[in-house]
Amino acid sequence: MNLDSLHVPLALFADDEPAGLRERLVAALRGCAEALGRGTIEVDYDEAEERLRVFAYVDVTEANLAAAQAFAELELGESLGFDLWGGDPAHLVFLGVDERAWEAFRERGERALRGVLTAGRRAREAAALGPWLAEHGEQVAAWRRTAWLPEVEIGLPDDLSRETYHGGPAWLRADEAWPACAACGAAMELLLHLDAVASQLACGVAGMFEVFQCTGCGVGELARAVVDGAAPRDSPVSEPRCVAKRVVRWQQVDDHSGFAAPDPVFTAVMAVRGDKLGGWPARLQGTREEPFPCPACRGDTRLVYQLDSDGHTEWRWGDLGRAWLSVCPRHPERPLYFWECS
Ligand SMILES: [Zn+2]
Ligand SMILES: [Zn+2]
Repeated sequence: MNLDSLHVPLALFADDEPAGLRERLVAALRGCAEALGRGTIEVDYDEAEERLRVFAYVDVTEANLAAAQAFAELELGESLGFDLWGGDPAHLVFLGVDERAWEAFRERGERALRGVLTAGRRAREAAALGPWLAEHGEQVAAWRRTAWLPEVEIGLPDDLSRETYHGGPAWLRADEAWPACAACGAAMELLLHLDAVASQLACGVAGMFEVFQCTGCGVGELARAVVDGAAPRDSPVSEPRCVAKRVVRWQQVDDHSGFAAPDPVFTAVMAVRGDKLGGWPARLQGTREEPFPCPACRGDTRLVYQLDSDGHTEWRWGDLGRAWLSVCPRHPERPLYFWECS
């Protein structure tokens, strides 16, 4: 497999049904290419070459006829197609796609494809754990929680109330400034807007929470609770890393603390990795579950969200680290946020 050249032999993923896997890969890539917004996008899978292909087609009009004829003998009304993934500079100029946007598309596309392939791995891991749980389930029952894995689509609806999303507008009161980086002063990017009330989370935590990151210098970070009277405000960050995307579905899974049993079959699976709502933190350091104390009362907080470096925020915490947002039910106005890397 080579995502750089979109070479993905479906046979490598023997546990996945090939037609379904092919469809999921094509859909993920099409979503990313369409977000680039240039021409008609066609994504398909070439069975002979075992390769995904992304083409952008543009109609030849009076306005682009001369430029189009530099590529081929063309007439008005015909259409001209280019390999968008290949990113030939002359083709990008014709399509009106600048290099940065194209690089972001490639990065996003690769991540989306990895996400599809990882989802299959997770399903296989869960299946592998099944027999172990049938035998030892009682032993870890006290260490079981429900978590919900977000499924996202690129883009946001006009009405953001009751939505959970990554990237884009933050909810601020008219008199609140957009959060700035404590280190460099630049506007930080919104990585997560979570409406806990509208989510499946039933752990006594209500309200809306947001996580920000300075994607310029990489230092500034912030988690905050949205205050009463706030409304969505567009991000002032001109070239965001995190493309706005909304959660369209939540997949419910059983989640176990990675420290619940020392059996290697179990610890190989441990707490669910990736972005998730609720559940247990998939720790990268530490050897046991520790309370995350509330900054106000030192009482235990509830894990609300896990953000992963291979997740939807398009941000990496250190060396493939993970970040956690947790909230004290008595002090929801002061959420706790921290991250670890291996
Ligand atoms: Zn900064
Ligand atoms: Zn507290």
